[in-house]
Amino acid sequence: MPELPEVETTVAGLRPVLEGKRLTLVEPRRADLRRPIPVDLRQRMTGARVVQLSRRAKYGLIETDRGDVMIFHLGMSGRWRIDPAELEKHDHLVLETEENRRLVLNDPRRFGSLDLVRVEELDEFGPFAVMGPEPLGEEFNGTYLKAVTKDRKAPIKQLLLDQRNVAGLGNIYVCEALHMAGIAPSRMGGGISRSRYDKLVTAIKAVLESAIAAGGSSLKDFVQPDGELGYFSKQWLVYGREGELCHCGAPVLRKVDSGRSTFYCGKCQN
Ligand SMILES: [Zn+2]
Repeated sequence: MPELPEVETTVAGLRPVLEGKRLTLVEPRRADLRRPIPVDLRQRMTGARVVQLSRRAKYGLIETDRGDVMIFHLGMSGRWRIDPAELEKHDHLVLETEENRRLVLNDPRRFGSLDLVRVEELDEFGPFAVMGPEPLGEEFNGTYLKAVTKDRKAPIKQLLLDQRNVAGLGNIYVCEALHMAGIAPSRMGGGISRSRYDKLVTAIKAVLESAIAAGGSSLKDFVQPDGELGYFSKQWLVYGREGELCHCGAPVLRKVDSGRSTFYCGKCQN
């Protein structure tokens, strides 16, 4: 499932193909993904020039010179294909540029989404309206995290996954960051000291940035005919490593809670 670094990498891969380019063809190939695709998407995007690509949480944003922003979410299985030789069954949106480049959004499980909003209404777009700060932004720091978790009895892991507190953090990165900061996932949010939150914020930014760097270095493999954007492999310290040894020598543990796995070390995280 694509998380924030995969979306950042995807946007970086789409940028050279789309930014500054006019869209000569915009063709949704079905009416809905997770929710309906806007019926006027084709009409509003065709002929427009892409002025900017960016990311908010796990959403990619494609802004045009008409003041529209097409917002995509990759869901569980979404990926962009670049200059595919042929269209496939699960290609749900086709874009073509004035340079005859073709981009295709493929999503077999269709948990992704496509939305179209006016740029001035971006902050009011449903998911964005209730979202906390970006984890890589300056606003997300130890002071903020201490304040937002004040008096909260919920486990810190749960608080970090709550998009209202911080945007775009998923299970893998939360597990890894808590391990790096030496904080037990089950620790009550309100009881964590400011200095430990400083350390946690540093860890969150570090795991995200190293994954984005790994994604960036894999981009050259994607941006070529029949390339795919959205996934790259990474090495995790605890995630998916149940029973293997942590660097402290203790085994990595796994706990399952409402279908979601938490990987952690019982010795160096407390
Ligand atoms: Zn350990």
